[in-house]
Amino acid sequence: MADTKTNKEHNIDDSKYAMETRIIYGKDVSDKWDYSHHVTAPISSSTTFRLDSVERGAQGFKQFAHSSESEGEAPIFIYDRLGEPNKDMLEENLAYVEKGDMAVTFSSGMGAISAALGIFLGAGDEIITHNTLYGCTISLFNNWYPKYNIRVNPVDLTSIENIYPVLNDRTKVIYFETPANPNLDIIDIAGLRKALDDLNKKRTEANQIQIIIDNTFATPFCQRPIELGADFVVHSLTKGIGGFGTDIGGVVIGKNKYRDLLLLYRKDFGAVLNTKSAWSILTYGLPSLALREKQQIKSAMSIAEFLENHPKISYVNYPGLKSYKYHELARKQMIDFNGDFAPGSMIYFSLKGGTPSECKENGRRFMDYVADHAYTMTLAVSLGHTRTLIEHPASMTHSVVPPEKLEERGIDPGGVRLAIGLERTEDLLMDLDEALKAI
Ligand SMILES: *Cc1c(COP(=O)(O)O)cnc(C)c1O
Repeated sequence: MADTKTNKEHNIDDSKYAMETRIIYGKDVSDKWDYSHHVTAPISSSTTFRLDSVERGAQGFKQFAHSSESEGEAPIFIYDRLGEPNKDMLEENLAYVEKGDMAVTFSSGMGAISAALGIFLGAGDEIITHNTLYGCTISLFNNWYPKYNIRVNPVDLTSIENIYPVLNDRTKVIYFETPANPNLDIIDIAGLRKALDDLNKKRTEANQIQIIIDNTFATPFCQRPIELGADFVVHSLTKGIGGFGTDIGGVVIGKNKYRDLLLLYRKDFGAVLNTKSAWSILTYGLPSLALREKQQIKSAMSIAEFLENHPKISYVNYPGLKSYKYHELARKQMIDFNGDFAPGSMIYFSLKGGTPSECKENGRRFMDYVADHAYTMTLAVSLGHTRTLIEHPASMTHSVVPPEKLEERGIDPGGVRLAIGLERTEDLLMDLDEALKAI
């Protein structure tokens, strides 16, 4: 890279620039790959790499997952499952925007979640989680962890005191989402950090309780949990960060000392992000995140206010609404790159109705009407896309929760989840208004 003009060589101080600008450049010229004459990084699609000599090959294997020994050296790429340039560059940029030391990508959000937990948990260990979570995360905990003799204790983490009755020497991790899926409960990250600091003081280094937060709903544009005291952030890159609904991916972001373990886990369990998806997220998703989130928040705010005042709606959960019970806490922790309140792109609401089954029926009728008639809203799971998506958690994303357990897990049988896209706000309001009139 003799004649390469890197930021480092130019000694450009990027801290002068807003993150909205920096997110477009990321590391710009990366020492992970010499593509200095490309403006956009090329796609690497080689599963294996020429090693030139056995000695260099041996060096590559020695360096893999030994970051302390290979620091500052250009990576020796061996085989895609161990590492390759597109993923490595995406990882540098994701760590950068989430304010973590390092990032390791995975083939999906679930791949990232299993790995972040997997490096800490073994038979006999326990975790504490919030009572509601992404449906497949609940499924991982219900269907698989019992086989490994890992105990999961779901509690209402909106009151931190609820950890104490289930906390014990075997507790290794506290895991949650904030805002939580689907009801948008908000959990006090800094408050939990403080409570854990006191507990961790009495534990050995190897036995520290880790805070792992799924930040998918907020995206790093709206919230950076590591700054607030989380040990790890996980994301489904499939959602707001990917942004276009074209690629599945996941990431774990956190402290450098866990990077090697995560790389080993990824190598051996095999949930590797494919290079083309890494490239799409690096090229389209991340650089456009701030622009997309701003438009989505603007629409979400107007829609939440519209729904809140609508006679057919019983309640609206949206962190931006003053009436929302976690509004004050959200104002403290959901802050964009420029310091402004950023309440996100997700809304959860319920239609008026009598009994739980009548509520569920009303929600179902409303969504079926939308599925048939609304141009700007699509009945589909997922979120953070260009198109606004609407779904019914009780019968779709959270169908893993039995009907009699819905309430205990914080899920309203009639609740509707709305994931705002990039359409013009007025068009979304028009379609919602029409659907509410029609039912
Ligand atoms: C989608 C999602 C996941 C899982 O991500 P995949 O990429 O689909 O595996 C995890 N957590 C949340 C909050 C999600 O929305």
